[in-house]
Amino acid sequence: LWGIFIFCLVAFNYTMRVDLKLEELLYEAFVKDEFHPFFQAYVDSEIKEFIGAEVLMRWIKSDEKVIPPNLFIPVLERNRFIIEVELKFIKKIFSLFKFWQDEYKKTIKLSINVSAVQLSNPRFLEEMEKIANDFKIEKNIITFEITESYVIENVEAAAETMTKLKKLGFNISLDDFGTGYATLTHLKSLPIDVVKIDMAFIKNILVDDKSEIIVQHIINMSKKMNLKTICEGVETEEQYLKLKELGADIIQGFYFAKPIPLGEFEEDYII
Ligand code: C2E
Ligand code: CA
Ligand code: CA
Repeated sequence: LWGIFIFCLVAFNYTMRVDLKLEELLYEAFVKDEFHPFFQAYVDSEIKEFIGAEVLMRWIKSDEKVIPPNLFIPVLERNRFIIEVELKFIKKIFSLFKFWQDEYKKTIKLSINVSAVQLSNPRFLEEMEKIANDFKIEKNIITFEITESYVIENVEAAAETMTKLKKLGFNISLDDFGTGYATLTHLKSLPIDVVKIDMAFIKNILVDDKSEIIVQHIINMSKKMNLKTICEGVETEEQYLKLKELGADIIQGFYFAKPIPLGEFEEDYII
């Protein structure tokens, strides 16, 4: 038993030290401006045309190595540093958006992920209003993606922030829908515009009947509530055709487009 205890202690200590080291590196990355946006286009399921893109954060180190968000966002969330990183990141996105409008007369719909930690930041709403006004951005072009699990854990607080964001004019999408036991009541009581059906269901949609039934159900009930549905993680033509048949509004996934860096995105969709 003691052996196990000591092993756990050593392992815990090791994890703490690795995390601390990572925290330092992340702080440095913030100062050196190493957090960059990748863009994944999504399409209208009927006409298969590009209608907007999700912005996905990457940490690009000085040696050009690209680190995916799952490896660092949880650490940033744990020490709440995500608040500063995300605010700077969103500012960068809004300025890009403005640049595309001014320079190329292109208005691109963008979806931006917002961390649960950010939603509990009392400055967040003020900052968003200020940034949007500074850049003179039509707010209904921007959709904030908020993960369902957070919303369900903090329904009242989440509803309040979401209502205020909507009042400011932004759109709201409920991300990873279906994973956090959200119910019809939640959909009805939350001020959302879009339901983003979690990839896990899409992955199995042609494999098991249950996934298909769940997706069909989510799409039907969203339609009745005038909410748009996005299906993410669509990797094959068969999945796309099935989702189109089920009535999904928007499709996102490797089948149509992978997340790509800024330069490539500008070449493909803006210039
Ligand atoms: P998410 O918001 O659910 O984003 C979708 C993830 O699925 C992305 O991973 C995307 O690259 C990936 N994906 C898209 N299409 C497909 C597909 O067809 N097949 C498969 N297998 N995967 C697909 P990514 O970019 O690694 O992001 C992972 C998560 O990190 C995101 O999940 C989101 O929760 C978080 N994240 C990314 N950027 C930000 C950000 O700026 N702020 C915050 N707070 N979180 C972010
Ligand atoms: Ca998302
Ligand atoms: Ca998602």
